[in-house]
Order: sequence, then C-alpha cells, then structure tokens
Amino acid sequence: MFAYRHGFHAGNKADVFKHSVLTAVLMRFRAKEKPFLYFDSHAGAGFYKLDSEWSIQTGEAAGGIGVLLGSSAPGSSTGSAEGTESLPPVPPAVEAYKKLCMRFYGKGFYPGSPEIAASLSRPGDSLVLCELHPSEIAVLRQNMKGVNSRDFPPDFPCGTGSSGRGNIHIHYRDGFEAVTGLLPPGGSLPKRGFVLMDPSYELPSDYKNVSEVVPRAVSKWNTGIFIVWYPLVGRRMKQVEKMKKSLSDSLSACFSGIRSPSVNSGEREEPFFFSELEFAGKDDGGMYGCGLLVVRPQWNFAGEVREINGYLRSVFSRRF
Ligand code: SAM
Repeated sequence: MFAYRHGFHAGNKADVFKHSVLTAVLMRFRAKEKPFLYFDSHAGAGFYKLDSEWSIQTGEAAGGIGVLLGSSAPGSSTGSAEGTESLPPVPPAVEAYKKLCMRFYGKGFYPGSPEIAASLSRPGDSLVLCELHPSEIAVLRQNMKGVNSRDFPPDFPCGTGSSGRGNIHIHYRDGFEAVTGLLPPGGSLPKRGFVLMDPSYELPSDYKNVSEVVPRAVSKWNTGIFIVWYPLVGRRMKQVEKMKKSLSDSLSACFSGIRSPSVNSGEREEPFFFSELEFAGKDDGGMYGCGLLVVRPQWNFAGEVREINGYLRSVFSRRF
C-alpha cells in the first residue's frame, strides 16, 4: 500500500485533461462573487518538481504538459503525415490552464490540483485538502505554505476578484471517509462548491470505494458538484467497467424524478456524464487514456468538457 507517488506522473496527459477541466469549473465558480468550497479528497503533494529523479525517469510530463505548452496556435498544421489537419481554437479553460502552468513550468515545476485551486481561489473561498500518504501529507503542508503570497496578474482570464488567497484546511485523513464525514459543508465553510475525487487506483478496493462513496456523498451534499477521475488501463478494464456501471445505476436512481439543478431556459441538463480521452494504444495492457465523471454539472458544462476533450485529443494525436 502507498507505493504510489504522483511525482512520477505529474503533468502527464491524464493530468492535463483533469486539470484543464478543473480550471474550467474553477473559472465558473469565480464568475460569481459568492465564495465557493473546493474539496480535494486525494490531494497529493500540491505541486511537483519536474527535474526530480521521479519525473525524469518516466518522462511523462514532457509528453503531457510539455506537448501542450509547445502546441501551436489555432489553425496551424498538426504536423501529421497528411499535413492537413488543423488544431481547433483553444478552449478558454485550456488557455487559462496553460497560462497558469507557464508560471510554474519555466521554473521547473508543475502545479497539482491543490495548487491550481489555491491559485484560482479568492479571500472568501475555502479549500479542504485530504491526503493519506504519510510522506506526501508533509510535502503538501510544506508546499501549501507559500500559496497566500502567489498572486495572478490582473489580466488573468478568470472572473472576479484577486487570486491565490483562499482559506486552506489540510487533513491527514482517508479521503473516501472524509467526503461523507466532512460534507455537506458546515460551520464557516461556503455552502456552494465542488469535490475532486482523484484516487491513485493503486488498490483494487479504490474502484469499490469510488462506486460506493460517490453516490452516498452526492445524496448527502445535495447541491455539490462532483468530479471523479479514473484511469483507462487495459489490464483493469473489467474493474473500470464494473465501477462505471455501478456509478451509472446508483446515480440514475439518485436523480430519478428529480430535475437537475442545472436547468435553464426550459431545457434539461443531464445530471451526470462521463468524458473519456484516449491518448495511447491499448496493446500493452497499460494506461491508454483516462475518464472523468461529472455529477451535477453547471449549465452547458458537458459541451465545454467535450470541447476541451476534442482539443486535447487533437494536440496529443500530433506527430512531432
Ligand atoms: N489530485 C492530485 C493532483 O491532481 O495533483 C493527484 C492525486 S494522486 C493521483 C492520488 C493521491 O491520493 C496520492 O497522493 C495518494 O497518496 C493519495 N491517497 C491514496 N489513498 C488515499 C485515501 N484513501 N485518502 C486520501 N488520499 C489517498
């Protein structure tokens, strides 16, 4: 248990997809002045050194954030053998995420989900970060110390207010237990907000925990938005499919007869959806992509995630 360290994988293609979508949600919450809560059940170390032995050993960041930051302007050729494909326009959330990453990448760092949320939070917003790895929690506490002094330039394309000043609460705690134990938010925590659940899926029990905990937490915090990341790994596809089916069944039951809160202009937004990005071949049984489950999406969020997915698919299918 706990062999997993995100430092080996930080900034890979899966992170780029997850963190672009995370930026999109944060931008929507920032569009209103009312404070929000960000709840990260599996926080990791906060941010990562890209010149560390771990990162260099896998080279995953170079193939993920490195490729995205090196990608050309919209309309440019993809460099494919045919040479005719163009990149679609960069979705605003990907543009914002790239801008944020540039601040770290130039100095040899990559921002993890706590750092991205902290950087895009405002004085009244709150972050709850849970991490269970005995070494990773210490690094997270250390890394999050400097956050309050990091400000974004006034032109940062993210709604209202200043950035990088949210109230941060760090828990050395099981995120699967905390998501129902600490939610819905009580006390001084903002009542509107969202959860990012991003387990390492190192243990077979992680799949079962996600299947059971997510529907329970969704029912308990009946206005919260939930984003759940999962890997597409060839040799684990049975477990992944079982988890998705179980989540679909439980969430459908949970929302049956209830109109989603994301209803606008008489149209109905689906109460949950899955979005999957494939970025490698399936032959070796390894990770060939990843998926996100979004529960209680904001208005037209499925469309926004589709655009992000399509854009990243184009970027990562380029041949250099
Ligand atoms: N969310 C982070 C990001 O995007 O930057 C990456 C998180 S990493 C994929 C998963 C983390 O969950 C690891 O740091 C691992 O130590 C931690 N973890 C594993 N099981 C946990 C549990 N039951 N509760 C909380 N954290 C756990």
